[in-house]
Amino acid sequence: MGNSVSRSRGLFSRALAHIPGGVNSPVRAWRAVGQEPLFISRAAGAYVFDADGNRFIDYVGSYGPAILGHANPGVAVAVAEQAEKGFSYGAPTEEEVCLAEELSGAISCAEKVRLVSSGTEAAMTALRIARAATGRRKVLKFDGCYHGHSDALLARAGSGAMTFGLPDSAGVPPELAASTLVAPYNRLDAVERCLNANQGDVAAIIVEPLAANMGVVKPQPGFLAGLRDLADEFGALLICDEVISGFRLRYGAISDFWGVGPDLILLGKIIGGGMPIGAVAGRAELMDLLAPSGPVYQAGTLSGNPVCVRAGLATLAALREPGVYERLEELGAQLEAGFREALAQSGVAGCINRAGSLLTFFLGVSEVNDAGAARQADTSMFSRVFSAMLDAGVYLPPSQFEALFISLAHSEADLAHTVEALSAALRVAGRR
Ligand SMILES: *Cc1c(COP(=O)(O)O)cnc(C)c1O
Repeated sequence: MGNSVSRSRGLFSRALAHIPGGVNSPVRAWRAVGQEPLFISRAAGAYVFDADGNRFIDYVGSYGPAILGHANPGVAVAVAEQAEKGFSYGAPTEEEVCLAEELSGAISCAEKVRLVSSGTEAAMTALRIARAATGRRKVLKFDGCYHGHSDALLARAGSGAMTFGLPDSAGVPPELAASTLVAPYNRLDAVERCLNANQGDVAAIIVEPLAANMGVVKPQPGFLAGLRDLADEFGALLICDEVISGFRLRYGAISDFWGVGPDLILLGKIIGGGMPIGAVAGRAELMDLLAPSGPVYQAGTLSGNPVCVRAGLATLAALREPGVYERLEELGAQLEAGFREALAQSGVAGCINRAGSLLTFFLGVSEVNDAGAARQADTSMFSRVFSAMLDAGVYLPPSQFEALFISLAHSEADLAHTVEALSAALRVAGRR
């Protein structure tokens, strides 16, 4: 690559000695694009700076939280103020009440809210509530949807919609994986067949109402409403995982905007403003199943951590400013239009899926509505494009199957530079 990366190389070899794979979360190792990762030393606004001092326009955005851009001054002040007052008490605080009230006011099903420290925990807790509420064991999820790394939710489809899920990870007991049913996204017929074959056993359907972990994939008209109907018909709960989509496309939940009405909702990422957080929220009668009001045990030493909560409150306050989501839509539309033009001019086959400030360009496929189609994408061409973009100062998510995250700190000039870089990258990558 063009930039000097000697410090990153050195740090990575040190990391490999004492951290498995050199990273604390697998995607950061850049294996999907066949490269060694850059180590980031700081970030500001739309930019990240690596250990060698190279600057990149960042489209990772910490995988979602950085909607305001990095190191937003208002959030930084809130964090510093709270830090002076102590980092964690193991006791309730006023700030937690404020965040619960804020989430409850913004999201229709969120009568009550339990804060946790990650999206993974939120999903695991929601599933436990659903199993307790229904007395049932199985859960139906969708191929390509990610709900964190808890045992029960790491399964995805094998060969077909109705097959039992195979564990995506070693160390997940097969009995547990077998209680996770997997259907293709956007296929109500498969969901219905699956529910029919498992009558009386399915505690919950869990879905990303806007899928963003197989690349961005939108629900087709009627899909989410159909899930709501099927859940009711078969006596299962509907859990909407809005860890990415919550507060990303509007102030609140995208499931509300689309009129879905889930029983439980999962939040994370943006609501912590870049600090570790997650939340499960929902109808009071379900949420009150949680200890200490009910029999479902759930706890956390750092749950509702005041520094995280202050970061979240400050982020949400900034998102309540008028015009914020219109601006994100404008930026998303600009990037999409530029990318479309770049694809057309290069003659490389591809398609672009976008919702607001979330975007994926899939290379080598003409349409992507589910994980099966996404898997047809040309990942080796994506790797070449990724490298060329990096050389041009643009930091894309290091996988074809991640969304690009645009923030309020991205400027038109940043996006224009990004489009130019993609045009050049596609000209080279497409030639092979
Ligand atoms: C990131 C993510 C999670 C997991 O959140 P963590 O905080 O990484 O545990 C769950 N669901 C979705 C949709 C996510 O994007």
